[in-house]
Amino acid sequence: MKKLFLFTVLATFLMSCNGNAQKTSKKSSKDYEVSKTESEWKEELTSEEFDVLRKAATERPFSSELNDIKKPGTFVCAACGNELYKTEHKFMSGTGWPSFDRPIEGGVAYGSDSKLGYQRDEVHCARCGGHLGHVFNDGPKETTGKRHCINGIAMDFNPENE
Ligand SMILES: [Zn+2]
Repeated sequence: MKKLFLFTVLATFLMSCNGNAQKTSKKSSKDYEVSKTESEWKEELTSEEFDVLRKAATERPFSSELNDIKKPGTFVCAACGNELYKTEHKFMSGTGWPSFDRPIEGGVAYGSDSKLGYQRDEVHCARCGGHLGHVFNDGPKETTGKRHCINGIAMDFNPENE
C-alpha cells in the first residue's frame, strides 16, 4: 500500500515537472517588433499577401512583377515596410522568384521548415515575422553562394531617387 502511494506521488511529481518544462519552451517563442493578430493582418493584407506572409504559402513562379526589376532600389516587407533586400544583390536565377545573394543586414531572420519532407532554411521579416521564402546554397559562387528565393508578393519595391 505504501509503495503504491509513493509511486503516485512520484508520478505526480514527474508529470508536473513535464508541465513546467512545456511552459518554459512556450515562453521562448519569438516576439516581433510589429505584432498583430491574425484578423488584423487579414484586414491589412490582400488575401494573396496574407497566404504567403502569414501562412507561408508560395506564390506561382513568374507571377510577380518584382521578378524583372533591375533598377536600383530597396525591396521592403509588404506587411510592415521593413527593408529586406537591395537590387544590387539581386540576380536572375531563372526560378521565377525574385532571388538575392544576400539580405540587408538585420532585415531578415531564419527558421527551418520541413514541410516538403526535407529540411529547408526558411527566411522571414525580422520585424513582423512575415514569411518571405527560403534560402538555398546554390547561389552565385563568385559572391556568397546563397540564393534567397523570395515571394515577390511578400515585398514592395522602392526605387532609388524617386
Ligand atoms: Zn515585415
